[in-house]
Amino acid sequence: MPSGKKLKILFVTSEVVPFIKTGGLADVSSALPQNLQEMGHQVRIVVPKYGAIDERKYKIHEVVRLKDLTTKIGEKDVTFSLRSSFLIGKKARVQIYFLDNQDYFGGRHSLYSDPLSGEDFPDNDERFILLAKSVFELIIKLGWIPDIIHCNDWQCGLVPAYLKLNYQNEPGFDQIKTLFTIHNLSSQGEFPADVFQKTGLPSELKKQAKFISDGKFNFMRAGAEYADVINTVSERYANEICSDKEFSLGLHDILKKRKDKIFGIINGIDDSVWNPEFDKNIAKRYNIKSLENKPANKKALAEKFSFDYDEKIPIIGMISRLYPSKGFDLVIEAFEELMKENLRIVLLGAGDKKYHRFFMEALSKHQSKFSCYLGFDDQLAHLIEAGSDMFLMPSQFEPCGLNQMYSLVYGSVPIVRETGGLADTVFEFDSKTGEGNGFLFKDFNKDSMMKSILKALNFYHNEPKLWHKIIKNGMRSNFSWINSSKNYIDLYRKVLGA
Ligand code: ADP
Repeated sequence: MPSGKKLKILFVTSEVVPFIKTGGLADVSSALPQNLQEMGHQVRIVVPKYGAIDERKYKIHEVVRLKDLTTKIGEKDVTFSLRSSFLIGKKARVQIYFLDNQDYFGGRHSLYSDPLSGEDFPDNDERFILLAKSVFELIIKLGWIPDIIHCNDWQCGLVPAYLKLNYQNEPGFDQIKTLFTIHNLSSQGEFPADVFQKTGLPSELKKQAKFISDGKFNFMRAGAEYADVINTVSERYANEICSDKEFSLGLHDILKKRKDKIFGIINGIDDSVWNPEFDKNIAKRYNIKSLENKPANKKALAEKFSFDYDEKIPIIGMISRLYPSKGFDLVIEAFEELMKENLRIVLLGAGDKKYHRFFMEALSKHQSKFSCYLGFDDQLAHLIEAGSDMFLMPSQFEPCGLNQMYSLVYGSVPIVRETGGLADTVFEFDSKTGEGNGFLFKDFNKDSMMKSILKALNFYHNEPKLWHKIIKNGMRSNFSWINSSKNYIDLYRKVLGA
């Protein structure tokens, strides 16, 4: 393949902004395809059509030849359709196909788990077997053969295996290469081993370590085994998962074996969405030259959370899924100590019920200093970035992390654990050289985190000039998707042998 040839890329994912989102995967699945398309490549996206996706608003329509297709999941005959629309962004218009099946997706509003019980849906195995199979039926019916199928996280983990094991004889399919992007290893799509029977993969492979981890069928393992090339969303995290068992979470053998095929590409941020200069969701827009407008956002944030507004008291923001890997056990342990400091904390998040319970109690006990909204609210996320002075991300693991990058460009100084993408984007401020854009701590424990927070508070309260410098260093960051998209193209070309 000539190195300048424009590529055909089929991007398979389980969430895409603006249609549906639970986390950073949705941001990436929107921004990257748009940037690739803008660079002249031909991109198409496949995503499930969950009940929460508004069909009318997004003009999702039927395509006759993609209607009422059938496949088998175990013994079941399953009928599905692929419906069409466009992802219309500031940069490009990308064709998107929605996998439509009422039982598996359309009849449920949430993506992976029951919002009331917090439990994963019991048929997630079948739901994402269907996603993987639908990709090949789509290609066959459209007669559009991509150069690359770009698969994301465990939900797409079976795509590379199906391509190599079940669809190799389809005309042209032997030319297709797969890239598997690991956004998050902490969720691997693990199911009882007999799920293998439902997949329709060659039965002689059923006991093989290619699919089975710890006695369980594992979608992520299959993706890592069969993809032609793999990447994670920062270089640091790529190194961590290949070299340290604490990070590889049971996949050490396969990640070590495939080390030479694993690359790190840091995510960009979509500056048409996350940019304080043009952000419609905040109280007053600003940029590095009009930082005097930022406090209006702090005031709006304080009012939103019913705090008495005082410009001199720092607000620490947090926006996150509430799970152990995000470091919330440290926050709980440090909470009473934090509440003794001259600060306010606002939290936006949803996840594990144990954290919901803790923060609801904290809310009634410390309402003058702590407030939270335990749910998902995209608009509020923007106001928190603009209105807070600091942003806390004490993650145990962080493949890339987007919020620390948003914080940097919104002038909210990040305090983060030195891991994964956090370590690749946040650099400790050095008052001697004036370099650095935030504060980091290494050891995953409460004392280490507190030390870093107290250091930041000290700069805030006692060194206003240096504080300003830290803010400006952060706001000068360039997290453009253009760089990251070029790195993806290089990786696609590498695997295509160009
Ligand atoms: P992850 O993908 O592991 O959840 P990231 O930092 O990469 O973490 O991305 C999280 C994304 O989800 C960010 O865009 C963040 O603003 C958003 N987000 C997380 N929780 C919420 C919430 N409760 N409400 C609104 N946005 C949220």
